[in-house]
Amino acid sequence: MNRLDVRSLSTAFATDDGVVHAVTDVSFAIGAGRTLALVGESGSGKSVTSLTVMRLLPRTGHARVSGRVSFVDRAGQTLDLLSLPERGMRAIRGNQIAMIFQEPMTSLNPVFPIGEQIAESLRLHKGLDGAAARAQAQRMLERVEIPAAAQRLREYPHQLSGGMRQRVMIALAMACEPTLLIADEPTTALDVTIQAQILALMRRLQADTGMSILFITHNLGVVAHHADDVVVMYAGRIVETAPVAGLFAQPQHPYTQGLLACLPSRQRLRPPTGTGPRRLYAIRGQVSSPLAPPPGCAFEPRCDQAMAACREAMPALRAAGGDRSARCILVTEPSA
Ligand code: SF4
Repeated sequence: MNRLDVRSLSTAFATDDGVVHAVTDVSFAIGAGRTLALVGESGSGKSVTSLTVMRLLPRTGHARVSGRVSFVDRAGQTLDLLSLPERGMRAIRGNQIAMIFQEPMTSLNPVFPIGEQIAESLRLHKGLDGAAARAQAQRMLERVEIPAAAQRLREYPHQLSGGMRQRVMIALAMACEPTLLIADEPTTALDVTIQAQILALMRRLQADTGMSILFITHNLGVVAHHADDVVVMYAGRIVETAPVAGLFAQPQHPYTQGLLACLPSRQRLRPPTGTGPRRLYAIRGQVSSPLAPPPGCAFEPRCDQAMAACREAMPALRAAGGDRSARCILVTEPSA
């Protein structure tokens, strides 16, 4: 059963300089208990995708949204999130679907103790009274392994380290036992050891609760260890989809191939005897302006394998065998 099913989602913003197509024709699905990673560099449209799903786009952005976002709630009912009245959406957001952001200080309220912030969510969505909500907030802090939880409940976000704040964000997100967690670069601002602890914690909570996770990241190392399926985005469109093992073993799209070639490895970093240090591969150039996309394939100006035909039309997302697809004219479906 798919818990979240996104079909032909497009989001565009009217600006003074023209219409920016931030997300175009994006489709993916996440099954119960599965983790799907949405991967891409800044400007690829991954965060706009998640904010569109959550209906959290800034009201001042003159966003135009089309497509369908289906979510199966706890009662087994399929809801169309894009047409749900705002009141219904508020009942889902922070309750059945929760979000964790990169920087907890932008999400936690600096003027309330952290225990109060978790308890408020429990009062609002679960109807718990004050004492029960505070007791449950303490259990949540213990669950995310915050030491001296009873004392920490009374502390303010600025009194905690970055890693602790991110744990509090996870406790807040998990308080109402969501069935879908959207994690937008949840560990990017943390150092690698804390990052590993937070990711391990999320995996344990997922194993305990069976929630699905939409993981938004540019970190392919994190994807390799934590995702089941991967969607690679470039310039607002999906360019490749694959189960995680297949993507790393045989990336189909030149952009994905480039991303993987950029990863350092001990093998690559070791200087060959008698020469200077090896240089890491980098994808040349930058993502084109969304106001002036190149004709044809959006990756063409940066692609080492580009040819004249790539400039003629935007390639379609082609089946690439198994559960895979890629948006490139070089991709052919393997014969059965
Ligand atoms: Fe490169 Fe052409 Fe494929 Fe685009 S369609 S990724 S330019 S080879």
